Amino acid sequence: MAEHTGRVLIVGAGGVGQVVAHKCAQVMAQGSGDLGRVITGITLASRTVSKCETIAADVRARTGVGIDTRQVDADDTSRMAALIREVSPELVINVALPYQDLSIMDACLETGVHYLDTANYEPPDTAHFEYSWQWAYRERFREAGLMALLGSGFDPGVTNVFTAYINKHLLDEIHTLDIVDVNGGDHGQAFATNFNPEINIREVTAPCRHWENGSFVETPAMSTRRDFTCPEGVGSYSVYRMYHEELESLVQTFPTIRTARFWMSFSEAYLTHLQVLQNVGMTRIDPVPFQGQEIVPLQFLKAVLPEPAGLGKTTRGRTCIGVIAGGPRDGENRRVYVYNLCDHEDAFREVGSQAVSYTTGVPAMIGAVMMLSGTWMAPGVWNMEEFDPDPFMAALNRHGLPWSVQDPAQVAELG
Ligand code: NDP
Repeated sequence: MAEHTGRVLIVGAGGVGQVVAHKCAQVMAQGSGDLGRVITGITLASRTVSKCETIAADVRARTGVGIDTRQVDADDTSRMAALIREVSPELVINVALPYQDLSIMDACLETGVHYLDTANYEPPDTAHFEYSWQWAYRERFREAGLMALLGSGFDPGVTNVFTAYINKHLLDEIHTLDIVDVNGGDHGQAFATNFNPEINIREVTAPCRHWENGSFVETPAMSTRRDFTCPEGVGSYSVYRMYHEELESLVQTFPTIRTARFWMSFSEAYLTHLQVLQNVGMTRIDPVPFQGQEIVPLQFLKAVLPEPAGLGKTTRGRTCIGVIAGGPRDGENRRVYVYNLCDHEDAFREVGSQAVSYTTGVPAMIGAVMMLSGTWMAPGVWNMEEFDPDPFMAALNRHGLPWSVQDPAQVAELG
């Protein structure tokens, strides 16, 4: 069982890590506020320590809270374990990259601390992500009396919690599920991704899979498009069906679901750039010999694209992410839509980040607090929808991501 130190070790000082550090510091600064005195210390570790130091200075300036900073290569389990022993956290919050999930989980088991992440494991040499690798740790975490919470970002994360909330309060059971992720923001760059470019492009170029009557159906990437009008004047956008990891756990947790789909908005300019990059081989993930060494084109592309953490200053507009579900309620078929709107400029004013990092980092902090306070605490490896959604939903409203339920008569039909 993990020792109650109240210290969190955040791994990864990118766009999301910056938000998690700020939000954990806010909770620490408010002391015995609504979330209680659960975080008592913060360490931020990453591959490039100078990025941790920059974030720590900003957090101190905004909240007065001091953050301890460290260098670590989280691909190396023994170094991660050594860092955990030095720092004595109660929980590791992994907001590095999906490639590090298993090495950090191994280090947590070795040292007896809890684990949380926001994206499921992906092997570096295959663009394929699924939960099987992390679900294989269930027995080991349970036996060690430790908890791992998987996917505590927005999607996955809040979308799983919205689905659990709908299942608990709004429908008798869920038959259809559409998760719709619209970024109505503009960063002013010709081409940039709002989270890690390598992970983003691997995700977007992967074949689409959606759930239909008991199995996943595969279709070519970006081959199905719909128009979607967001509530509250955010605007109308083209959304494309793609695979997203929460579909895998949600259809298992809620077996009444007959169809489950994930949709994301992309601008024409983004898709045109992506197509050219694909056509010229820049999205390849296999090593290519170049001037006496091997380089992976997508990793090189990441090095020349803007960092997501730096987009905050120029991004305007709002994100609109939510869950549309259909199913019976009191003998009638009903469709409901639960969503959050997040303003890029508001996020930047509060923590110096754009809304995509903000909407991921806030739920990571809330997930951590749910665990540290014992509100969500059970040994084993868990997805978000397996816990009571109510305390998490209440915390979203108080910590920067308020949500709404649309009038059922207005809910859009995606077809
Ligand atoms: P960034 O690329 O901005 O940041 C990643 C950070 O991790 C960088 O600081 C990087 O270090 C660090 N890192 C990479 N490899 C290692 C390593 N081996 N050891 C230690 N540190 C390492 O990405 P984001 O902040 O945008 O994304 C972070 C995570 O959040 C990703 O896993 C992403 O998939 C996930 N995410 C989840 C979302 C959700 O809603 N669930 C939405 C958006 C993102 P360096 O600076 O040296 O490169």
